[in-house]
Amino acid sequence: MTKAASAAAKDLAAAGVSGVHLSWADNNGIPRSRIVPIGGLADAAVRGVGATSLFAVFDSHDAITYAHSGLGTPSGDIRLVPVVERLRRLAGQPALAWAPVRQVAADGSPWPYCQRSVLERQVAEAAAQGLEFRAGYELEFMVTPAGSADVMSAPGHPGPAYSPHALVGLDEFVATLLHDFAANGLRIGQLHAEYGVAQLELSLAATDPVAAADDQLLARQTIHAAARAHGLAASFAPLVGLATAGNGWHLHTSVWRKDRNLLTGPGVPEGEGAGYVGGLLRDLPALTAITAPSVPSTMRLRPGFFAGAYAFWGVENREAPLRYVPGSALLGVDHANIELKTSDASANPYLALAVVLAAGTAGIAESVVPPEPIAEDPGSWSEGERDTRGVLPLPAHTSEQDSALLANPRIAGVLGNELLGAFRAVRASDAAWAAQRAPEEIVAAHLWRY
Ligand code: GLU
Ligand code: MG
Repeated sequence: MTKAASAAAKDLAAAGVSGVHLSWADNNGIPRSRIVPIGGLADAAVRGVGATSLFAVFDSHDAITYAHSGLGTPSGDIRLVPVVERLRRLAGQPALAWAPVRQVAADGSPWPYCQRSVLERQVAEAAAQGLEFRAGYELEFMVTPAGSADVMSAPGHPGPAYSPHALVGLDEFVATLLHDFAANGLRIGQLHAEYGVAQLELSLAATDPVAAADDQLLARQTIHAAARAHGLAASFAPLVGLATAGNGWHLHTSVWRKDRNLLTGPGVPEGEGAGYVGGLLRDLPALTAITAPSVPSTMRLRPGFFAGAYAFWGVENREAPLRYVPGSALLGVDHANIELKTSDASANPYLALAVVLAAGTAGIAESVVPPEPIAEDPGSWSEGERDTRGVLPLPAHTSEQDSALLANPRIAGVLGNELLGAFRAVRASDAAWAAQRAPEEIVAAHLWRY
């Protein structure tokens, strides 16, 4: 690895790169990083660079909570070790490169709070059962001229939704996005003006789960740099206004055994594929405590906004938090996947994927049988009708999410006791902050955090 890191550093330096962002995402989905000069990369790849262990208990507002006993004092240091295989030069910030890190203890041993390691462990456990995954994120975001106080007072495009005309005013930005994503090694499936004013979406091509989470972090850096180059600011916040469309970061997964996509089926998934869907649905309330964990996440979950407010699944149902996307004669059977809509930028992408894989894998192992898919929007039903059909709202407050997580050892156990303790402490800190504030102020405080 030292050799590979030295060779990569030499090439990057020759190409004009001066430093490398060593980056990770914290328990609020907020990217954090340290820059090392390019000459220090090879050493960092072996010994890591130092950082406080308290990053595990930073809340969404950069306050540090000491409520988790495992990280209850200001003392403690960890090492950030770059994953050199994922090192990329940043097309939009040409003096810099980027690499995700593993967080390890000061002596180099595994550190239980490292989110990326949690996902690696989950992938390895599923692999031991003969299962592999493909995963990819769709990213929705809003743009506004840089320096705007918020998004909605100066939306970066006026719509119409999905219109090519909406993007004409953002032409150079769009061109830079397309160029820089390709140059940074990120494959985009498509890019468009989304439903909301100021809103865009791009979808990342499916890959293995750890790479999908790494790519999601690199995509954020790429979008922010492209926005800055064109005098714009991009907001990835789950919500930018109380009455507007939210920004979902929908997570698509498929599960494979021996090169066969288990989600293919003549109509809906069968056998182990049905188990995967059943497993996701069974654990959905606890899952969403991880995949849509912030206070604005819960505010985003309104029926009628395609955000997934009730726990159910459907075939191509855009109101469903779990939308099954079948394969077809045109797309090939292997196109089949399931989309989790109750997922956003305030989730740590590694943890989000880890719990999704764990829920689905358990569903396969236990042959969980999902109920019939629902084609309608249960938000338009009466409460009585929802009760009869067994469709419950997803947790809509931090306290409900916390209860759902605690009540589900299968999902809580994915994080392990230490990380679970830190994660819950951070959520409680965010909730206490929000309890004293109006909804508008809560939304405003999260706009530029991700
Ligand atoms: N903007 C919606 C959300 O908050 C999703 C719209 C869509 O289905 O693409 O998740
Ligand atoms: Mg969308």
